[in-house]
Amino acid sequence: RVRFEDVRKKFGRTTVLEDLNFTVERGERVTLIGPSGSGKTTILRLLMTLEKLTGGYIWVDGDPLTHDRRDGKRVELRAKQVAEVRKRIGMVFQQFNLFPNMSVVQNITEAPVHVLGQTPDQARDHALDLLDKVGLRHRADAHPMELSGGQQQRVAIARALAMDPEILLLDEVTSALDPELVGDVLAVLKDVAASTDITMLIVTHEMQFARDVSDRVMMFDGGRVLEEAPPEEIFSNPRHERTQKFLEAVV
Ligand code: ATP
Repeated sequence: RVRFEDVRKKFGRTTVLEDLNFTVERGERVTLIGPSGSGKTTILRLLMTLEKLTGGYIWVDGDPLTHDRRDGKRVELRAKQVAEVRKRIGMVFQQFNLFPNMSVVQNITEAPVHVLGQTPDQARDHALDLLDKVGLRHRADAHPMELSGGQQQRVAIARALAMDPEILLLDEVTSALDPELVGDVLAVLKDVAASTDITMLIVTHEMQFARDVSDRVMMFDGGRVLEEAPPEEIFSNPRHERTQKFLEAVV
């Protein structure tokens, strides 16, 4: 269970998130939609501890992800505690971010070996199974540069899954792809959604995909949740005019 409590985030003087509150239940699939700049990526990056909070709390299964400022006190969490929570979260980025100097299989085994302490053989077996799942076992020894964007993104998904995450964050994972490569990546993600109980937070402009996999859609605007509802409801009957306009513009 992920909980954002009174979360604030500023970049310099710009407030991006303002007293943001929401909860994502264990196993739930939640899609974040909203105009560019509404803070969706920032939410995922905060959860991934790639950004620091300005205020408020983020909890992962009751563990605070960031420093606790209750009673006005500021207690820095030890890096080790953050790393423990962080291990339970996987993220796939718009720009794949594979290690260019490593083969596909090395990209996938790196963290399981060095962070989880798996043996290289264990990690390789698991990596090959995951490559099967994403349809790329035959490219295990290729380097990222030799693969299409869609293939690289499927490797990035396998890499995230290799850590057996409880929570998977997907940040516009098809936005950098040529249109004809999008379908394969979304098919892999639908399969992941159908075959695991991983909690998912998804930022996407692919509304059909959002409809297919989400339990709930949250519409952001100006750093707040404007409305939230199951996909069939929000897409067919948005309550706010802003949501309606946004959906008309993207679909
Ligand atoms: P998009 O759909 O365009 O990715 P988004 O909803 O994901 O938008 P964010 O990327 O979270 O929005 O950005 C929210 C705001 O924060 C934007 O105005 C952006 O310019 C600003 N911002 C994000 N990262 C930084 C940073 N490192 N430094 C300064 N401003 C930033």
